[in-house]
This record gives sequence, structure tokens and C-alpha cells, in this order.
Amino acid sequence: MEKVRIQDDLYMYVNQETLDKLVIPDDKPATGGFSTLNEEVEKLMIDEFNAMVKSKEYPNDYLKRTLTLYKAAKNVAKKDKDGIKPALKRLEMIKNLDSMSAFNRKLKTLVMEGMPLPFDIAVQADLKDAEHNCLYIQGPSVVLPDASYYKPEMAQQKQALIGMWTNMAQMILAKTDLSAEEQTKYLEDTLAFDEMLGALVKTSEEWSEYVKAYNPMKTSRVSGLVKPIRFRALLKALFGTAPEKVVVLEPRYFKAFKEVFNEENFEMYKHWAYVRALLGACPYLSEELRDMGGMFMRAITGVPVCTPVEKFAYQLASSMYSEPVGLYYGEKYFGEEAKKDITEIVYQIIDTYKERIKTNDILEEATKEKAILKLSKMGVKMGYPDKVDELYDLLVFGERKSLLDIVASLKKIRFQYQLDSINKPVNKEEWAMPGHMVNACYNPSVNDITFPAAILQAPFYSLKQTRSENLGGIGAVIGHEISHAFDSNGAKCDENGNINNWWTKADNKRFDKKVNQMVKQFDGIELPWGKVNGKFIVSENMADNGGMAVTLDIMSRTEGASFEEYFMNWARVWCIKAKPEYLQLLLTVDVHGPTCLRANIPPRNFPEWYDTFKVKKSDKMYIAPSKRVVIW
Ligand SMILES: [Zn+2]
Repeated sequence: MEKVRIQDDLYMYVNQETLDKLVIPDDKPATGGFSTLNEEVEKLMIDEFNAMVKSKEYPNDYLKRTLTLYKAAKNVAKKDKDGIKPALKRLEMIKNLDSMSAFNRKLKTLVMEGMPLPFDIAVQADLKDAEHNCLYIQGPSVVLPDASYYKPEMAQQKQALIGMWTNMAQMILAKTDLSAEEQTKYLEDTLAFDEMLGALVKTSEEWSEYVKAYNPMKTSRVSGLVKPIRFRALLKALFGTAPEKVVVLEPRYFKAFKEVFNEENFEMYKHWAYVRALLGACPYLSEELRDMGGMFMRAITGVPVCTPVEKFAYQLASSMYSEPVGLYYGEKYFGEEAKKDITEIVYQIIDTYKERIKTNDILEEATKEKAILKLSKMGVKMGYPDKVDELYDLLVFGERKSLLDIVASLKKIRFQYQLDSINKPVNKEEWAMPGHMVNACYNPSVNDITFPAAILQAPFYSLKQTRSENLGGIGAVIGHEISHAFDSNGAKCDENGNINNWWTKADNKRFDKKVNQMVKQFDGIELPWGKVNGKFIVSENMADNGGMAVTLDIMSRTEGASFEEYFMNWARVWCIKAKPEYLQLLLTVDVHGPTCLRANIPPRNFPEWYDTFKVKKSDKMYIAPSKRVVIW
């Protein structure tokens, strides 16, 4: 087969050989790039876990508890004798609700036990007052992976997906003590209730608009909206005194709340809650039920087999005790030398950003000053935190319980800890991601970036790679995260993380014009697995564009820099081999664009791309100068 030209397809030119060799593991929907690193970290840490279990020597008490959970999760596979019983026992809580008033009496318990409710609450930083926490309310999740499937134009896909989900639910319900008629009724009611929710809750595209989620209301008003729920009484029971304000994340849903949840639909709700809680419990019951409970997600992501029990146990233990595990990983596998080097790169990028803002053609002078202030105040979290949060001192559990009860009790402690933060200042020292996670993020409400140790390795970053390769890898990703401070969401938050309009109308107008150009670069692109929605992924694409602009700027001032190495490593980090079902799902639920486009579209906006590879009009990766866009 003839090799593709770099000028036509950078992504394939760089990754073709790797893609030919890559084999997607049977229990995963994808491999390559981020996923390969993930698999490696997982394997390494499972070996670590097994060695600790064998030697009975634990680095600290947190890891001792982590490993106790790991063992309990592994053992549940061997001892299937209890099977579904622990779930049935917990579900009594829902079965016994014989009326709306019984529901209200038990509401605090239902909330604390994480039972499915027609609403969910959370305590988080106030988006307009980032120093303080406040109460948020939102609707429940739906059976399908996104509410957009419930739109009339998606009816056909929805029917197919609901069919797969129903198959799974039927098999699991058959294991319960419900009669055949009851099983049918429970399932019908679940789907009918879900149908009502699907028409009202937000789609991923709607969630991607951060500022629109901020709808503060007086508690009395929310209480009125959610009647027949005794909301104020619930808040008093949970907090001592009811907070005065609640931020309603999904106003459309709560305005229609009474049509969904009322005396007439109460039985329907109960059956929905029972089925959702039952399915949610499956991973913690037995091998057979964990396998069954994963059928739907596997079907829609194209994964042939269930996660092996050892990996499942690791994933559970390392997510429940994420900070101690991340700290252990970071200290052992990410050295001080690398931390120093990478922190230097970060500040170089921030400084370059400031310079670029000064000459930027979007913002007026006064706004530029604020943008530079925002960069100066940006928090930088690299590698792993110095210590774990005090939450982990509280996360203890009784070993003699079933795995389901252990998990429920740990989730309850985590939730109580979150609720208790309502009257405390926001903990800005908290890390959004643990050290062993292969990812990175910008948190708009804290105005900080987090780069866990696990992403700070090749091909993203290595002391063994050239500076050009590191800039095309981790450098561009760091620039990407910093750009989120100025993407269509971040531009609406100030240097303290508050939603605050610090832009002038003219700034916004010039910015929106560029945003629209960016939407157009991606919108409607047809891939073998579906069509791209340019608006949905615009924030991420703007971040990629910003990340590339700032790192190319540094490249131009770096002695001995190789643009060839830069662009090639940029394409290397986006390498992915995935199941078509999974790629299709991502188009609907992921705010990031398909990685082949993330590799191939941003370079076309920059002269360095054209100069380095002599890209001409007749090449596929050429766009006319009038269509090129650089935002920051
Ligand atoms: Zn991003």
C-alpha cells in the first residue's frame, strides 16, 4: 500500500504503522495515545497492588484500606453465593415506599443512600462567588447515554438502543424475587418514566454551555417547583438550616417537574427507581451480574468482553481512594527533575500567552489587562498533590459487609463530606484529578490547571524527547488547558473563577466572529462513523488552536527547534484505534472532536505548517488564507 503524504494527512502519515500494529484489548473500546498510557498505568499499578497484598506491607494506612477494598472486590467474583441478595435487601427501601408521604418521611435516607430520585443535589463552588460553596439541583440521568437520543429525529437510533437496554434489564430482573408480571410492569414503568425525563433533561450539547447552567433561585421558589416533595424539610434535615439559595442547573426540567413527579406517577417512579438502583448495583454483586450489568455499555461501545475482575477491582479501589493512589504513583514514578522541567515549560507558556494577548486583535486595552491578570493568577498543579485531602481519613469501612454495602457506605461518606462543605470556604488546594490519571484539565471556577503525573510521560513528555517534541506533545496540551480560560465558557469567568462579564460588547463581537469561523472548520465533516457537530465541540477546538499558537510562538524562539518534530509529535499523541460504535457514541457525548481531526485541522491555520512541509494549494491539508483562524 502506498504511504499517504504528510501534506495530505498528517495524522495517517505519522500513525499509519502504529495503527496497523495496534490491537484493541477485548475489554476496552479503544487503544493508542491516551488509552495506551492508561493501559500501561493500570498494568503497572495492578502489579504494585498484587505485590502489596502478597507482602502484607502497605506504604500507609490509606493504601492499606485501598488494598482491603481491592481484595474485597476481587473476592466477590469467587464467592457468588449471595448473588443478588445484598441488592434485594437494599431495594426494600424503595419497595416499602407505599405513598408520597412515606417517600417524604424517608427522603433524607434515600438521598444519603444514593437511591435514584427525580432530582439530584450537590454542593460545589458558587459559580458567581467562587470563594463559597452553594447548593445545586439538577435532574436525574436517563437510561441512554445522552438526552439527545430522545429527540424525535433520533427516534430510530433510540429504539435500537432501548431494545438493547431492555434485553439487559429483563435478564437482570429475572434474577430478582419479582413475579413475571411484576417484572414486565416494572420495566414498562421504567421506560415510561425515562421517556418523560428524556424530553426534559439537558443534552450534552446544552451542558457544554457552562454559564447557562447558573440559575440561582430562592429556596422557597424551588420548593414550590418540586412540590409534592417537602424540599425545605429535606434541606433542614440535611444541613440543619435550609440554605436560602439553590442554583437550578436545569430550569426546563424543574419548570415541568410536577408533570413528571406527582401522586399519579408515584408507582411509576418507584418502579423506575427500583430498576435503576438494581442495575447500578450489579457490578458489586457477582461475576455473573457484573457481566450482565455491563452488557448495554459494551454493546454501544463495541466492547466484546467484560472487564477482567482484577482490573475491575483495581478501577474500583483506585477511584474510591484516588488521591492516596495518585500520590503513591506520583512519588514513585514522577521525579523531581521532571517536575522542575515541566513547571518551567508551563510558566514559559503562560508568559508567552501574556505577550500574545498584548498584540491580540480581539480585546480592547482594558480587557487585555484583565486577561493578563487572569493568567497571572492562574493556579498550576503539576504531577501530584503534597498531601491527601482529609476526606481520606474518614473513608473507613467495615470489612465484613458485602461489597455492595462497602461501596454504598464509602459513597455515603463522600457525599456527607461534600454536604458538610456548604458553610466552608472553597478548598482551592483540592486536585481535580489524581496523579495516576492520564488526563489534564482547566477548572474555570478555580482558574487553575491540573496535569497529573500519569500524562507527563512519552509521547506527551519525556526528558528523553527533544524540546520540539515535548512542545508538540505536552506543551500544546498545556497551552490547550490554559486556552480554556479564554474559550467560549472561560471568557465569561474572571481571574477568581467567578462568572462575571469582563468583556466589552465590541470584544464579544470580534470574539464571536472567530468562534463562528472555528465552528465552520469542523461542522458537517463526514467521517465513516458519522457527522461532526461543530458548535458542540467548539470550545475544545478553540483550546487546541490556542495551544498550538502559543507553542509555535515558543518554537520560533527556541534554538535548534524542529517544526517537523513538533507537528509529528502533535499528531502522535492523538493516535487512536477504536470500535466504530464507540466513535459514533463520542460524536454525541464528547465535547472533544474526533482525534484524527484534532491532529489534522489545527495545523492548517498556521504558516509554520505550510513552510515546514511545503504544503501547496493542491494538497489536502491546505486551506485558503482567508479561512485560516488564530484566536489567541
Ligand atoms: Zn479541553
